[in-house]
Amino acid sequence: ARAQIGVTGLAVMGRNLARNFAHHGYTVAVHNRTPARTRELIEEFNHEGAFVPAESIEEFVAALERPRRMMIMVKAGEATDAVIDEFTPLLEPGDMIIDGGNAHFADTRRREAALRERGIHFVGTGVSGGEEGALNGPSIMPGGSVDAYAVLGPMLETISAHVDGEPCCTHIGSDGAGHFVKMVHNGIEYADMQLISEAYDLLRQVTDHTPAEIAEIFRGWNEGRLDSYLIEITADILAHTDPATGQPFIDIVADAAGQKGTGRWTVQTALDLGSPVTAIAQATFARVASSRGELRAAYRAMPGGIRPPVRHDEAARFVSQVEHALYASKVIAYDQGWTMIRDAAAEYGWDIDLGAVARIWRGGCIIRAAFLDRIRAAHAANPGLVSLLAEETFAAEIADAQVPWREVVASAAHRGVPTPAFSAALAYYDTLRAERLPAALIQGQRDYFGAHTYQRTDRPGTFHTHWAQPGRPETEV
Ligand code: NDP
Repeated sequence: ARAQIGVTGLAVMGRNLARNFAHHGYTVAVHNRTPARTRELIEEFNHEGAFVPAESIEEFVAALERPRRMMIMVKAGEATDAVIDEFTPLLEPGDMIIDGGNAHFADTRRREAALRERGIHFVGTGVSGGEEGALNGPSIMPGGSVDAYAVLGPMLETISAHVDGEPCCTHIGSDGAGHFVKMVHNGIEYADMQLISEAYDLLRQVTDHTPAEIAEIFRGWNEGRLDSYLIEITADILAHTDPATGQPFIDIVADAAGQKGTGRWTVQTALDLGSPVTAIAQATFARVASSRGELRAAYRAMPGGIRPPVRHDEAARFVSQVEHALYASKVIAYDQGWTMIRDAAAEYGWDIDLGAVARIWRGGCIIRAAFLDRIRAAHAANPGLVSLLAEETFAAEIADAQVPWREVVASAAHRGVPTPAFSAALAYYDTLRAERLPAALIQGQRDYFGAHTYQRTDRPGTFHTHWAQPGRPETEV
Protein backbone atom coordinates (compact mmCIF):
# COMPACT_ATOMS: atom_id res chain seq x y z
CA ALA A 1 0.00 0.00 0.00
CA ARG A 2 1.64 3.19 -1.09
CA ALA A 3 -0.98 5.60 -2.44
CA GLN A 4 -1.70 8.55 -0.14
CA ILE A 5 -4.99 9.16 -1.91
CA GLY A 6 -7.26 7.26 -4.27
CA VAL A 7 -9.79 8.53 -6.76
CA THR A 8 -12.65 6.38 -8.02
CA GLY A 9 -14.71 7.75 -10.90
CA LEU A 10 -12.43 8.92 -13.68
CA ALA A 11 -14.66 10.97 -15.96
CA VAL A 12 -13.47 14.55 -16.59
CA MET A 13 -13.62 15.68 -12.96
CA GLY A 14 -12.11 12.61 -11.31
CA ARG A 15 -9.38 12.27 -13.90
CA ASN A 16 -8.35 15.89 -13.55
CA LEU A 17 -8.41 15.84 -9.74
CA ALA A 18 -6.27 12.66 -9.79
CA ARG A 19 -3.78 14.41 -12.08
CA ASN A 20 -3.85 17.49 -9.85
CA PHE A 21 -2.94 15.34 -6.79
CA ALA A 22 -0.18 13.66 -8.82
CA HIS A 23 1.19 17.00 -10.02
CA HIS A 24 1.64 17.92 -6.35
CA GLY A 25 3.71 14.84 -5.62
CA TYR A 26 1.06 12.54 -4.19
CA THR A 27 0.90 8.90 -5.20
CA VAL A 28 -2.65 8.43 -6.47
CA ALA A 29 -4.56 5.16 -6.78
CA VAL A 30 -7.02 5.43 -9.65
CA HIS A 31 -10.10 3.34 -10.32
CA ASN A 32 -13.18 3.48 -12.49
CA ARG A 33 -16.18 1.15 -12.79
CA THR A 34 -15.36 0.71 -16.47
CA PRO A 35 -11.62 -0.11 -16.44
CA ALA A 36 -11.07 1.35 -19.91
CA ARG A 37 -11.13 4.84 -18.39
CA THR A 38 -8.42 3.85 -15.90
CA ARG A 39 -6.26 2.49 -18.72
CA GLU A 40 -6.79 5.65 -20.75
CA LEU A 41 -5.68 7.82 -17.85
CA ILE A 42 -2.50 5.74 -17.43
CA GLU A 43 -1.76 5.72 -21.16
CA GLU A 44 -2.15 9.46 -21.53
CA PHE A 45 -0.93 10.85 -18.23
CA ASN A 46 1.26 8.29 -16.42
CA HIS A 47 4.32 10.42 -17.14
CA GLU A 48 2.82 13.31 -15.13
CA GLY A 49 3.23 11.66 -11.73
CA ALA A 50 2.85 8.54 -9.60
CA PHE A 51 -0.37 6.69 -10.37
CA VAL A 52 -1.37 3.24 -9.13
CA PRO A 53 -4.00 1.89 -11.51
CA ALA A 54 -6.55 -0.51 -10.03
CA GLU A 55 -8.93 -2.59 -12.09
CA SER A 56 -10.92 -3.89 -9.12
CA ILE A 57 -12.16 -2.24 -5.95
CA GLU A 58 -10.12 -4.77 -3.92
CA GLU A 59 -6.95 -3.73 -5.74
CA PHE A 60 -7.83 -0.09 -5.23
CA VAL A 61 -8.40 -0.45 -1.48
CA ALA A 62 -5.22 -2.53 -1.12
CA ALA A 63 -3.21 0.22 -2.82
CA LEU A 64 -4.17 2.84 -0.21
CA GLU A 65 -2.04 3.77 2.81
CA ARG A 66 -3.85 3.58 6.16
CA PRO A 67 -5.93 5.30 7.26
CA ARG A 68 -7.23 5.04 3.71
CA ARG A 69 -8.21 8.23 1.95
CA MET A 70 -10.40 7.81 -1.10
CA MET A 71 -12.27 10.31 -3.18
CA ILE A 72 -15.48 9.44 -4.99
CA MET A 73 -16.02 11.39 -8.23
CA VAL A 74 -19.00 9.62 -9.77
CA LYS A 75 -22.32 10.86 -11.06
CA ALA A 76 -24.12 12.34 -8.06
CA GLY A 77 -27.14 10.50 -6.67
CA GLU A 78 -27.72 6.76 -6.72
CA ALA A 79 -24.27 6.07 -8.16
CA THR A 80 -22.70 7.61 -5.05
CA ASP A 81 -24.70 5.31 -2.78
CA ALA A 82 -23.83 2.33 -4.96
CA VAL A 83 -20.12 3.12 -4.76
CA ILE A 84 -20.27 3.68 -0.98
CA ASP A 85 -22.05 0.33 -0.56
CA GLU A 86 -19.41 -1.44 -2.64
CA PHE A 87 -16.42 0.04 -0.87
CA THR A 88 -17.44 0.21 2.79
CA PRO A 89 -17.22 -3.55 3.47
CA LEU A 90 -13.55 -3.30 2.48
CA LEU A 91 -12.81 -0.26 4.65
CA GLU A 92 -11.86 -0.06 8.33
CA PRO A 93 -12.61 2.37 11.14
CA GLY A 94 -10.58 5.55 10.69
CA ASP A 95 -10.67 5.38 6.88
CA MET A 96 -11.91 8.44 5.04
CA ILE A 97 -14.20 8.85 2.06
CA ILE A 98 -14.33 12.21 0.31
CA ASP A 99 -17.39 12.66 -1.89
CA GLY A 100 -16.46 15.38 -4.38
CA GLY A 101 -19.60 14.96 -6.49
CA ASN A 102 -22.41 17.48 -6.56
CA ALA A 103 -24.41 15.75 -3.86
CA HIS A 104 -27.47 17.27 -2.22
CA PHE A 105 -26.43 18.22 1.32
CA ALA A 106 -29.29 16.20 2.82
CA ASP A 107 -27.88 13.06 1.15
CA THR A 108 -24.48 13.95 2.54
CA ARG A 109 -25.91 14.27 6.06
CA ARG A 110 -27.55 10.86 5.70
CA ARG A 111 -24.39 9.21 4.34
CA GLU A 112 -22.16 10.83 6.96
CA ALA A 113 -24.37 9.62 9.79
CA ALA A 114 -24.50 6.07 8.42
CA LEU A 115 -20.74 5.84 7.90
CA ARG A 116 -19.96 7.46 11.24
CA GLU A 117 -21.75 4.49 12.88
CA ARG A 118 -19.12 2.27 11.25
CA GLY A 119 -16.25 4.54 12.29
CA ILE A 120 -15.64 5.76 8.75
CA HIS A 121 -15.20 9.47 8.10
CA PHE A 122 -17.38 10.75 5.28
CA VAL A 123 -16.36 14.13 3.98
CA GLY A 124 -18.92 15.62 1.61
CA THR A 125 -16.93 18.14 -0.37
CA GLY A 126 -18.05 20.83 -2.76
CA VAL A 127 -15.71 21.23 -5.72
CA SER A 128 -16.14 24.21 -8.02
CA GLY A 129 -14.33 25.25 -11.14
CA GLY A 130 -15.32 22.64 -13.69
CA GLU A 131 -12.78 20.43 -15.39
CA GLU A 132 -10.21 23.18 -15.78
CA GLY A 133 -10.42 24.00 -12.07
CA ALA A 134 -10.17 20.35 -11.12
CA LEU A 135 -6.89 20.12 -12.99
CA ASN A 136 -5.25 23.41 -12.08
CA GLY A 137 -6.81 24.29 -8.75
CA PRO A 138 -10.50 24.33 -7.84
CA SER A 139 -12.26 26.00 -4.94
CA ILE A 140 -12.84 23.19 -2.44
CA MET A 141 -15.53 23.15 0.25
CA PRO A 142 -15.11 20.15 2.55
CA GLY A 143 -17.60 19.27 5.29
CA GLY A 144 -17.29 16.32 7.66
CA SER A 145 -15.45 16.07 10.95
CA VAL A 146 -12.65 18.24 12.28
CA ASP A 147 -10.58 15.07 12.75
CA ALA A 148 -10.92 14.11 9.10
CA TYR A 149 -10.01 17.63 8.02
CA ALA A 150 -6.85 17.50 10.12
CA VAL A 151 -5.65 14.71 7.83
CA LEU A 152 -7.27 15.65 4.52
CA GLY A 153 -7.11 19.44 4.80
CA PRO A 154 -3.43 19.81 3.92
CA MET A 155 -3.85 17.60 0.83
CA LEU A 156 -6.97 19.39 -0.36
CA GLU A 157 -5.46 22.80 0.34
CA THR A 158 -2.41 21.84 -1.71
CA ILE A 159 -4.41 21.01 -4.83
CA SER A 160 -6.83 23.95 -4.48
CA ALA A 161 -6.52 27.30 -6.22
CA HIS A 162 -4.49 29.90 -4.35
CA VAL A 163 -5.08 33.64 -4.12
CA ASP A 164 -2.52 35.90 -2.44
CA GLY A 165 -0.79 32.76 -1.23
CA GLU A 166 -3.91 31.51 0.57
CA PRO A 167 -5.61 28.23 -0.42
CA CYS A 168 -9.18 28.31 -1.75
CA CYS A 169 -10.10 25.51 0.62
CA THR A 170 -11.19 25.50 4.24
CA HIS A 171 -13.14 23.22 6.55
CA ILE A 172 -16.66 24.58 6.14
CA GLY A 173 -18.42 22.75 8.97
CA SER A 174 -19.62 19.32 10.00
CA ASP A 175 -21.50 16.70 7.94
CA GLY A 176 -23.27 18.34 4.93
CA ALA A 177 -21.98 21.91 5.44
CA GLY A 178 -19.54 21.68 2.52
CA HIS A 179 -22.12 20.50 0.02
CA PHE A 180 -24.60 23.06 1.36
CA VAL A 181 -22.18 25.90 0.80
CA LYS A 182 -21.36 24.56 -2.69
CA MET A 183 -25.10 24.55 -3.44
CA VAL A 184 -25.42 28.19 -2.37
CA HIS A 185 -22.34 29.01 -4.45
CA ASN A 186 -24.22 27.68 -7.45
CA GLY A 187 -27.35 29.60 -6.50
CA ILE A 188 -25.31 32.80 -6.35
CA GLU A 189 -23.77 31.81 -9.68
CA TYR A 190 -27.27 31.58 -11.19
CA ALA A 191 -28.10 35.07 -9.87
CA ASP A 192 -24.83 36.59 -11.06
CA MET A 193 -25.24 35.10 -14.55
CA GLN A 194 -28.82 36.33 -14.79
CA LEU A 195 -27.87 39.85 -13.60
CA ILE A 196 -25.07 40.05 -16.16
CA SER A 197 -27.44 38.81 -18.86
CA GLU A 198 -30.03 41.42 -17.92
CA ALA A 199 -27.35 44.13 -18.10
CA TYR A 200 -26.43 42.91 -21.58
CA ASP A 201 -30.07 42.88 -22.65
CA LEU A 202 -30.59 46.46 -21.44
CA LEU A 203 -27.52 47.69 -23.27
CA ARG A 204 -28.66 45.87 -26.39
CA GLN A 205 -32.30 46.94 -26.32
CA VAL A 206 -32.31 50.29 -24.58
CA THR A 207 -29.13 51.85 -25.95
CA ASP A 208 -28.96 49.83 -29.16
CA HIS A 209 -25.32 48.79 -28.71
CA THR A 210 -23.99 45.91 -30.80
CA PRO A 211 -22.73 42.76 -29.04
CA ALA A 212 -19.17 43.74 -29.94
CA GLU A 213 -19.66 47.18 -28.37
CA ILE A 214 -21.18 45.59 -25.28
CA ALA A 215 -18.17 43.26 -25.08
CA GLU A 216 -15.98 46.37 -24.88
CA ILE A 217 -18.19 47.88 -22.17
CA PHE A 218 -17.89 44.66 -20.14
CA ARG A 219 -14.12 44.66 -20.64
CA GLY A 220 -14.08 48.15 -19.16
CA TRP A 221 -16.23 47.07 -16.22
CA ASN A 222 -13.88 44.17 -15.65
CA GLU A 223 -11.17 46.68 -14.80
CA GLY A 224 -13.25 48.04 -11.91
CA ARG A 225 -15.28 46.78 -8.98
CA LEU A 226 -17.12 44.25 -11.17
CA ASP A 227 -13.82 42.48 -11.97
CA SER A 228 -14.78 38.79 -12.11
CA TYR A 229 -14.48 35.61 -14.11
CA LEU A 230 -18.13 35.79 -15.22
CA ILE A 231 -17.75 39.36 -16.57
CA GLU A 232 -14.55 38.32 -18.34
CA ILE A 233 -16.11 35.33 -20.12
CA THR A 234 -19.20 37.38 -20.92
CA ALA A 235 -17.05 39.86 -22.85
CA ASP A 236 -15.42 36.99 -24.75
CA ILE A 237 -18.79 35.44 -25.61
CA LEU A 238 -20.24 38.76 -26.80
CA ALA A 239 -17.17 39.48 -28.93
CA HIS A 240 -17.34 36.07 -30.61
CA THR A 241 -18.58 35.78 -34.21
CA ASP A 242 -20.27 32.60 -35.38
CA PRO A 243 -17.92 31.18 -38.03
CA ALA A 244 -20.76 29.51 -39.96
CA THR A 245 -22.93 32.60 -40.46
CA GLY A 246 -20.73 35.60 -39.66
CA GLN A 247 -23.42 36.67 -37.16
CA PRO A 248 -22.65 37.57 -33.56
CA PHE A 249 -22.48 34.23 -31.72
CA ILE A 250 -25.04 35.47 -29.16
CA ASP A 251 -27.63 35.85 -31.95
CA ILE A 252 -27.39 32.29 -33.22
CA VAL A 253 -27.77 30.60 -29.80
CA ALA A 254 -31.29 29.46 -28.87
CA ASP A 255 -32.54 31.57 -25.96
CA ALA A 256 -33.70 28.72 -23.72
CA ALA A 257 -31.48 28.32 -20.65
CA GLY A 258 -30.67 24.88 -19.29
CA GLN A 259 -29.84 23.84 -15.76
CA LYS A 260 -28.55 20.85 -13.88
CA GLY A 261 -30.57 21.54 -10.77
CA THR A 262 -28.35 23.17 -8.14
CA GLY A 263 -30.17 26.50 -8.50
CA ARG A 264 -33.45 24.69 -7.99
CA TRP A 265 -32.06 22.96 -4.87
CA THR A 266 -30.98 26.34 -3.51
CA VAL A 267 -34.45 27.80 -3.95
CA GLN A 268 -36.23 24.72 -2.58
CA THR A 269 -33.96 24.71 0.46
CA ALA A 270 -34.32 28.46 0.94
CA LEU A 271 -38.09 28.06 1.18
CA ASP A 272 -37.63 25.43 3.90
CA LEU A 273 -35.21 27.62 5.83
CA GLY A 274 -37.25 30.81 5.36
CA SER A 275 -34.30 32.50 3.65
CA PRO A 276 -35.49 35.25 1.27
CA VAL A 277 -33.10 34.58 -1.63
CA THR A 278 -35.28 36.46 -4.09
CA ALA A 279 -32.61 37.28 -6.69
CA ILE A 280 -31.45 33.66 -6.80
CA ALA A 281 -35.07 32.50 -7.09
CA GLN A 282 -35.82 34.94 -9.92
CA ALA A 283 -32.68 33.83 -11.74
CA THR A 284 -33.76 30.21 -11.45
CA PHE A 285 -37.31 30.97 -12.59
CA ALA A 286 -35.96 33.09 -15.46
CA ARG A 287 -34.14 30.03 -16.81
CA VAL A 288 -37.28 27.96 -16.48
CA ALA A 289 -39.45 30.60 -18.17
CA SER A 290 -37.00 30.99 -21.06
CA SER A 291 -37.49 27.32 -21.86
CA ARG A 292 -41.31 27.43 -21.88
CA GLY A 293 -41.75 27.82 -25.64
CA GLU A 294 -45.49 27.28 -25.68
CA LEU A 295 -46.13 29.93 -23.04
CA ARG A 296 -43.79 32.37 -24.76
CA ALA A 297 -45.67 31.85 -28.02
CA ALA A 298 -48.96 32.62 -26.28
CA TYR A 299 -47.61 35.91 -24.89
CA ARG A 300 -45.57 36.93 -27.93
CA ALA A 301 -48.16 39.14 -29.65
CA MET A 302 -48.91 41.15 -26.49
CA PRO A 303 -47.98 44.87 -26.49
CA GLY A 304 -44.63 45.80 -25.01
CA GLY A 305 -42.63 48.92 -24.12
CA ILE A 306 -44.13 52.39 -24.09
CA ARG A 307 -40.93 54.42 -24.52
CA PRO A 308 -38.38 54.56 -27.32
CA PRO A 309 -34.74 53.55 -26.75
CA VAL A 310 -32.64 56.22 -25.03
CA ARG A 311 -31.21 58.90 -27.31
CA HIS A 312 -27.76 58.31 -28.68
CA ASP A 313 -26.25 61.22 -26.74
CA GLU A 314 -27.60 59.74 -23.49
CA ALA A 315 -26.24 56.26 -24.07
CA ALA A 316 -23.04 56.76 -22.05
CA ARG A 317 -25.06 57.89 -19.04
CA PHE A 318 -27.33 54.86 -19.32
CA VAL A 319 -24.32 52.53 -19.53
CA SER A 320 -22.99 54.00 -16.29
CA GLN A 321 -26.41 53.59 -14.65
CA VAL A 322 -26.48 49.93 -15.67
CA GLU A 323 -23.05 49.42 -14.10
CA HIS A 324 -24.41 50.81 -10.81
CA ALA A 325 -27.55 48.68 -11.06
CA LEU A 326 -25.54 45.56 -11.81
CA TYR A 327 -23.17 46.16 -8.93
CA ALA A 328 -25.90 46.96 -6.41
CA SER A 329 -28.00 43.96 -7.49
CA LYS A 330 -24.96 41.73 -7.29
CA VAL A 331 -24.19 42.83 -3.73
CA ILE A 332 -27.81 42.04 -2.81
CA ALA A 333 -27.69 38.59 -4.46
CA TYR A 334 -24.46 37.69 -2.65
CA ASP A 335 -25.86 39.05 0.61
CA GLN A 336 -28.89 36.80 0.17
CA GLY A 337 -26.60 33.81 -0.32
CA TRP A 338 -24.71 34.60 2.86
CA THR A 339 -27.98 35.04 4.77
CA MET A 340 -28.98 31.57 3.64
CA ILE A 341 -25.67 30.10 4.83
CA ARG A 342 -26.14 31.77 8.22
CA ASP A 343 -29.68 30.42 8.44
CA ALA A 344 -28.52 26.89 7.64
CA ALA A 345 -25.65 27.12 10.11
CA ALA A 346 -28.17 27.96 12.83
CA GLU A 347 -30.57 25.22 11.70
CA TYR A 348 -28.00 22.44 11.40
CA GLY A 349 -25.53 23.50 14.08
CA TRP A 350 -22.70 24.26 11.68
CA ASP A 351 -19.95 26.59 12.85
CA ILE A 352 -19.29 28.35 9.53
CA ASP A 353 -16.75 31.14 9.18
CA LEU A 354 -18.60 33.42 6.76
CA GLY A 355 -15.47 35.37 5.89
CA ALA A 356 -13.62 32.16 5.03
CA VAL A 357 -16.39 31.25 2.58
CA ALA A 358 -15.68 34.49 0.70
CA ARG A 359 -11.94 33.82 0.92
CA ILE A 360 -12.14 30.39 -0.73
CA TRP A 361 -14.37 31.71 -3.53
CA ARG A 362 -11.80 34.28 -4.62
CA GLY A 363 -10.15 31.72 -6.88
CA GLY A 364 -10.86 28.44 -8.64
CA CYS A 365 -14.64 28.71 -8.76
CA ILE A 366 -17.08 30.19 -11.24
CA ILE A 367 -18.06 33.20 -9.12
CA ARG A 368 -14.46 34.19 -8.40
CA ALA A 369 -14.35 37.96 -8.26
CA ALA A 370 -12.29 40.77 -6.86
CA PHE A 371 -15.06 41.95 -4.55
CA LEU A 372 -15.11 38.65 -2.64
CA ASP A 373 -11.97 39.88 -0.93
CA ARG A 374 -14.01 42.78 0.43
CA ILE A 375 -16.73 40.40 1.63
CA ARG A 376 -13.98 38.39 3.35
CA ALA A 377 -12.62 41.54 4.98
CA ALA A 378 -16.08 42.71 6.08
CA HIS A 379 -16.77 39.41 7.88
CA ALA A 380 -13.26 39.25 9.32
CA ALA A 381 -13.64 42.74 10.79
CA ASN A 382 -17.04 41.89 12.26
CA PRO A 383 -17.73 38.17 12.74
CA GLY A 384 -21.33 38.94 13.71
CA LEU A 385 -22.03 40.87 10.50
CA VAL A 386 -25.71 40.34 9.66
CA SER A 387 -25.59 41.84 6.17
CA LEU A 388 -23.10 43.44 3.81
CA LEU A 389 -25.25 46.56 4.01
CA ALA A 390 -24.36 46.80 7.70
CA GLU A 391 -20.76 47.38 6.61
CA GLU A 392 -19.78 50.97 5.91
CA THR A 393 -18.17 50.82 2.49
CA PHE A 394 -20.80 48.49 0.99
CA ALA A 395 -23.54 50.65 2.49
CA ALA A 396 -21.97 53.77 0.97
CA GLU A 397 -21.67 52.13 -2.46
CA ILE A 398 -25.28 50.97 -2.45
CA ALA A 399 -26.48 54.37 -1.27
CA ASP A 400 -24.53 55.85 -4.14
CA ALA A 401 -25.99 53.35 -6.61
CA GLN A 402 -29.60 53.57 -5.61
CA VAL A 403 -30.69 56.41 -7.92
CA PRO A 404 -29.20 54.89 -11.10
CA TRP A 405 -30.42 51.46 -9.95
CA ARG A 406 -34.00 52.78 -9.75
CA GLU A 407 -33.60 54.57 -13.11
CA VAL A 408 -32.50 51.33 -14.75
CA VAL A 409 -35.32 49.23 -13.33
CA ALA A 410 -37.86 51.95 -14.26
CA SER A 411 -36.33 52.26 -17.70
CA ALA A 412 -36.59 48.51 -18.20
CA ALA A 413 -40.24 48.56 -17.17
CA HIS A 414 -41.02 51.48 -19.50
CA ARG A 415 -39.36 49.79 -22.42
CA GLY A 416 -40.62 46.29 -21.74
CA VAL A 417 -37.21 44.74 -21.13
CA PRO A 418 -37.48 41.94 -18.57
CA THR A 419 -35.20 42.41 -15.57
CA PRO A 420 -36.49 39.91 -13.01
CA ALA A 421 -33.24 39.72 -11.03
CA PHE A 422 -32.51 43.48 -11.04
CA SER A 423 -36.11 44.11 -9.98
CA ALA A 424 -36.07 41.43 -7.29
CA ALA A 425 -32.83 42.78 -5.84
CA LEU A 426 -34.20 46.32 -5.74
CA ALA A 427 -37.49 45.15 -4.20
CA TYR A 428 -35.51 43.25 -1.56
CA TYR A 429 -33.53 46.39 -0.77
CA ASP A 430 -36.73 48.41 -0.45
CA THR A 431 -38.44 45.70 1.59
CA LEU A 432 -35.72 45.50 4.20
CA ARG A 433 -35.21 49.26 4.21
CA ALA A 434 -38.89 50.10 4.76
CA GLU A 435 -40.05 51.68 7.99
CA ARG A 436 -43.45 49.97 7.64
CA LEU A 437 -44.40 47.08 5.41
CA PRO A 438 -47.86 46.11 4.19
CA ALA A 439 -47.29 42.88 6.11
CA ALA A 440 -49.61 44.60 8.62
CA LEU A 441 -52.42 44.30 6.09
CA ILE A 442 -51.59 40.64 5.49
CA GLN A 443 -51.94 40.09 9.23
CA GLY A 444 -55.32 41.84 9.13
CA GLN A 445 -56.47 39.64 6.26
CA ARG A 446 -55.25 36.49 7.98
CA ASP A 447 -57.06 37.46 11.15
CA TYR A 448 -60.24 38.32 9.18
CA PHE A 449 -60.64 35.04 7.31
CA GLY A 450 -58.81 32.62 9.55
CA ALA A 451 -58.64 34.11 13.07
CA HIS A 452 -54.88 33.81 12.80
CA THR A 453 -54.38 36.67 15.32
CA TYR A 454 -51.91 39.57 15.23
CA GLN A 455 -49.60 41.58 17.42
CA ARG A 456 -50.05 45.30 18.02
CA THR A 457 -47.42 47.99 17.69
CA ASP A 458 -48.51 49.79 20.87
CA ARG A 459 -48.62 47.02 23.48
CA PRO A 460 -47.53 43.40 23.94
CA GLY A 461 -49.86 40.45 23.52
CA THR A 462 -51.67 38.50 20.83
CA PHE A 463 -55.01 39.78 19.57
CA HIS A 464 -58.00 38.80 17.48
CA THR A 465 -60.73 41.05 16.11
CA HIS A 466 -64.21 39.51 15.91
CA TRP A 467 -64.79 40.70 12.36
CA ALA A 468 -68.32 39.26 12.06
CA GLN A 469 -69.62 40.82 15.27
CA PRO A 470 -71.23 44.25 15.39
CA GLY A 471 -68.65 46.88 16.29
CA ARG A 472 -65.84 44.39 15.57
CA PRO A 473 -64.59 44.04 19.14
CA GLU A 474 -61.02 42.99 19.82
CA THR A 475 -60.00 40.40 22.40
CA GLU A 476 -56.62 39.46 23.69
CA VAL A 477 -55.98 35.75 23.20
P1 NDP B 1 -20.26 12.31 -14.51
O1 NDP B 1 -21.13 13.03 -13.58
O2 NDP B 1 -20.57 12.31 -15.94
O3 NDP B 1 -20.17 10.79 -13.99
C1 NDP B 1 -19.46 9.81 -14.71
C2 NDP B 1 -18.66 8.94 -13.78
O4 NDP B 1 -19.53 8.29 -12.81
C3 NDP B 1 -17.95 7.83 -14.53
O5 NDP B 1 -16.70 7.60 -13.93
C4 NDP B 1 -18.89 6.66 -14.32
O6 NDP B 1 -18.27 5.40 -14.45
C5 NDP B 1 -19.29 6.89 -12.89
N1 NDP B 1 -20.48 6.16 -12.51
C6 NDP B 1 -21.76 6.42 -12.87
N2 NDP B 1 -22.60 5.54 -12.28
C7 NDP B 1 -21.84 4.71 -11.54
C8 NDP B 1 -22.12 3.60 -10.70
N3 NDP B 1 -23.38 3.19 -10.50
N4 NDP B 1 -21.09 2.98 -10.10
C9 NDP B 1 -19.82 3.40 -10.29
N5 NDP B 1 -19.49 4.44 -11.05
C10 NDP B 1 -20.49 5.09 -11.67
O7 NDP B 1 -18.73 12.78 -14.32
P2 NDP B 1 -18.09 14.22 -14.08
O8 NDP B 1 -16.62 13.98 -14.07
O9 NDP B 1 -18.65 15.25 -14.96
O10 NDP B 1 -18.56 14.57 -12.60
C11 NDP B 1 -18.22 13.78 -11.49
C12 NDP B 1 -18.89 14.36 -10.26
O11 NDP B 1 -18.39 15.67 -10.06
C13 NDP B 1 -20.40 14.51 -10.39
O12 NDP B 1 -21.00 14.23 -9.16
C14 NDP B 1 -20.58 15.95 -10.76
O13 NDP B 1 -21.83 16.45 -10.35
C15 NDP B 1 -19.45 16.58 -9.97
N6 NDP B 1 -18.98 17.86 -10.47
C16 NDP B 1 -18.88 18.11 -11.80
C17 NDP B 1 -18.43 19.32 -12.27
C18 NDP B 1 -18.30 19.53 -13.73
O14 NDP B 1 -17.99 20.68 -14.11
N7 NDP B 1 -18.49 18.54 -14.56
C19 NDP B 1 -18.03 20.39 -11.35
C20 NDP B 1 -18.09 20.01 -9.98
C21 NDP B 1 -18.57 18.80 -9.56
P3 NDP B 1 -18.24 4.66 -15.90
O15 NDP B 1 -17.08 5.24 -16.62
O16 NDP B 1 -18.07 3.24 -15.54
O17 NDP B 1 -19.56 4.94 -16.57
